[in-house]
Parts: sequence; C-alpha cells; structure tokens
Amino acid sequence: MSILVTGGAGYIGSHTVMYLKERGEDVIVLDNLQKGHRAALSDVKLYQGNLQDESLLDEIFTSNHVDSVIHFAANSLVGESVEKPLEYYENNVIGSYHLIKKMVEHKVLKIVFSSTAATYGNPVRVPIMEEDPTVPTNPYGDTKLAIEKMLQWADGAYGLKSVCLRYFNAAGADPEGKIGEDHTPESHLIPIILQAALGQRDKVSIFGDDYPTEDGTCIRDYIHVLDLADAHYLALKKISETGESGIYNLGNGTGFSVKQVIDTCRIVTGNEIRAEVAPRRAGDPAVLIASAEKAKTELGWKPQYSALEEIVSHAWNWHQHHPNGYQE
Ligand code: UDP
Repeated sequence: MSILVTGGAGYIGSHTVMYLKERGEDVIVLDNLQKGHRAALSDVKLYQGNLQDESLLDEIFTSNHVDSVIHFAANSLVGESVEKPLEYYENNVIGSYHLIKKMVEHKVLKIVFSSTAATYGNPVRVPIMEEDPTVPTNPYGDTKLAIEKMLQWADGAYGLKSVCLRYFNAAGADPEGKIGEDHTPESHLIPIILQAALGQRDKVSIFGDDYPTEDGTCIRDYIHVLDLADAHYLALKKISETGESGIYNLGNGTGFSVKQVIDTCRIVTGNEIRAEVAPRRAGDPAVLIASAEKAKTELGWKPQYSALEEIVSHAWNWHQHHPNGYQE
C-alpha cells in the first residue's frame, strides 16, 4: 500500500507512521508542523503544509502513487475548541473538505479517518456502541462528526470508501522509547501527571470532583497509541479487501477516573504527585467508555497493551528519557 498520512508528525500520527513502516508499507506525510515534530518521523518523505492548500494536494497526488489516505491532521483539544470554535471549523471541517475534494478528483478512494468519542457527547449508556446517539458537547466533537457525515455522503456520491475510527483516550508511547507524546502546551491528563512526577509542575489540577461518578471525577477509557496504530493498519486492509465503509470505536472497554489515573501514575513512578481539585473544564462529559466489540469482530483488532499500568509505564519511559520532549 502507498499511504498518505496527514498529521503524520503528531502524536498518534507518528506512532501510526512508524507502525506502518515497520510493516513494510510505503508512507508519505503531510503535516504543517504546527503541533507535529519533524523528529518524530525518521526517514519519511514530508510535505510541510496545510490541508487547505489545494495546489500542494495536487502536487502530492500527482507526484506520488497514493492509493489511500489516513487523515489525522486536525485541532483536537476539547477545552480549546469551546474557546475557539471557528478555528476548529476552519481547520477540521474546511481542511477535510479540501482533502476529500482532491482525493475524489485524483481518484484516491480509500480513507481512514481519525474520529473521536467526543462525537457522542453525554452517552445514553456505557459502554458506548457505534449506533448510539451522537450529540457532541463541544465544537471539537461536532467538527469530527461533520467530517464523518461528509465522508458518508461522499461514499454514496463518489464511491469514496471510509473507515472512521472513534478513539477514546489515546495514551502511552512506543514501548522501545523511540517516539512519544509531546504537546506544547500540554493539556492531556497522563503527560501532565508525569510532568508533575518529573518536578516540571508542582501539582496536577483535577478538573471537577462533583461529577455523577463514584469518586466524583471524570471517567475515561485509555487506549495505547500503538493499539490505535494497529487499528488504522487493519482498517486500511479491511477497506482494500471488502470495499466497505464503517465506523468503529477504539477503546479498552474499561474506565478509570481522574483520581484512579493519578494513583496509577503514583505507583508507576514511585512519586507522590500532588493533586488538587479545580473547577470543571468546559465541554467534558462525565463518563466515556467504549464498546470496541465491532472493531474486534469486523477488523480483527486485538489490543496488545490494555493494562493502564503498562500504558502509563511506556509513557513514563518516554518522559524520563525525553523530559523536554523532542526539543533536545
Ligand atoms: N483532566 C484533569 N486535569 C488535567 C487534564 C485533564 O482533571 O490537568 C481531566 C479532564 O477533565 C478529563 C480527563 O482528565 O476528564 C481526560 O482529559 P484529557 O484532556 O487527557 O483527554 P480528553 O478526555 O479531553 O480527550
């Protein structure tokens, strides 16, 4: 397969690029490097630019034999999306529109799309099934849902086959420590806790302890970034083999509260890690837990690193050896 990965220099993108290359796939990357890191990509052809740049997309599709696309490039922070909704609609929805338009024009008719559990909003039941209602509680989830719909209509009209992967909470790092998670500023729970363990922050803020959960803090389903990478690989194979589109949840089916995650990080790092309750963060649903049965049955997906301690220990390995991320 010859695969264009948009957003391939980002956290999940770079792990997927590494995973695909290890399996002998031919990969090129489009990334504007606003959030992504060149150093996260070894020996990969990189086009630096934006999805809105149609002439760059033309150049990519004419000078490479791209047969499918994995589309990560997007803004992806729940809290930020509530503050800057228009930026999210522009980068995510309009950016994807240009990509999809150019794919159709160049007859590249297979795409795996990076979607999210945020498409569900407050779930009507847990674990969440793919057919459950999608009522996002923040612009981030809404933009991803809009793109899923664009893809479904493009399938009917132009035969563009898509697999939309709704990730729950991506975490962890390459077990060998070659690449890992590095956001500036960091906003994700596990890296923030590990930065506190390294002494780079004096404490962790727990965003709300008055949610309707056992300990009052939000519950999430944490899934290892390499298990996500594997799902993208399987999704591409599935589209190629069956020519069918689909939507799949990707999670472990187990929820951990913010307090439980902090406790796990205390065990893994051997550090006390100060934590303090702070106000709720806008747009956060109380509980998000996946049913990933459909991905297991239809894609043959089998997560390899399901234990939260293992996920945290891979992240901790990366953070200890790269306390300043890729900036070394
Ligand atoms: N969270 C927290 N303190 C932090 C960062 C995150 O309490 O400093 C909470 C956040 O409110 C959510 C959970 O941890 O309930 C996971 O947040 P994250 O940003 O990692 O992922 P999201 O669920 O937004 O995709």
